[in-house]
Amino acid sequence: MPQKIVAGNWKMNGTQASLSEIQAIAETTQDIHCSAILCPPAHLLHSAARLPGQLAIGGQNCHHAPSGAFTGDISAEQLADCGAFYVIVGHSERREGYSESDSLVRAKAQAALKSGLTPIICLGESQEQRAAGKALEIVLAQLSGSLPDDPQVIIAYEPIWAIGTGLVPSVAEITEVHDALRTQLYTIFGAAGQDISILYGGSVKPSNAQEIFAITHVNGALVGGASLKAEDFLPIMRSLAES
Ligand code: PEP
Repeated sequence: MPQKIVAGNWKMNGTQASLSEIQAIAETTQDIHCSAILCPPAHLLHSAARLPGQLAIGGQNCHHAPSGAFTGDISAEQLADCGAFYVIVGHSERREGYSESDSLVRAKAQAALKSGLTPIICLGESQEQRAAGKALEIVLAQLSGSLPDDPQVIIAYEPIWAIGTGLVPSVAEITEVHDALRTQLYTIFGAAGQDISILYGGSVKPSNAQEIFAITHVNGALVGGASLKAEDFLPIMRSLAES
């Protein structure tokens, strides 16, 4: 059975003062029956990982090399050294803003696994690709190109046009993509592919979480904006636990 997971992506938001917000999330997660992951910016990882509670910490990106002359980058091993257990790879903001290809995302996922981290691999089509009827084709190609050899991964389907916009695909659109992802994971990994959690991401909020979590093969969410405040993040977790 796939694990139920809510993961938060803080992106480039937050300072030391925000640790109290992370603490409020961490303290409450143990009372909610689903897994919680928070990916704060790198400078908060070490402190966030030491807060009491059941909140697992993840990075937002890693370099594919273990170490070396890569100014400004962070390796998977260094994330693990901070206390992280997860890392987001292939977020659309990196695929688009830094021209990250499927093969680079795959190399990052492999590096994460090698350092004992579980990669959260993001996939998603643009508005133009969806309008052209190519959403499924694009997302499945990204999956094949980005997956490492090992099924110890989490997948996040995040349509680019739904991220931070308040737009959410219809239930039928999410269903179609998640069903296809599940089928392809089974084809690639066999029975182990049935246990991989497939998260939906893109404008998930307390007000729409229940409807999204009722969809077959949606095993949780990757949440951006609504993960910044405990008062938004915790109700999303509760909706998943009750789904
Ligand atoms: C994200 O950045 O991964 C995301 C899903 O953002 P938001 O929830 O704000 O749309």
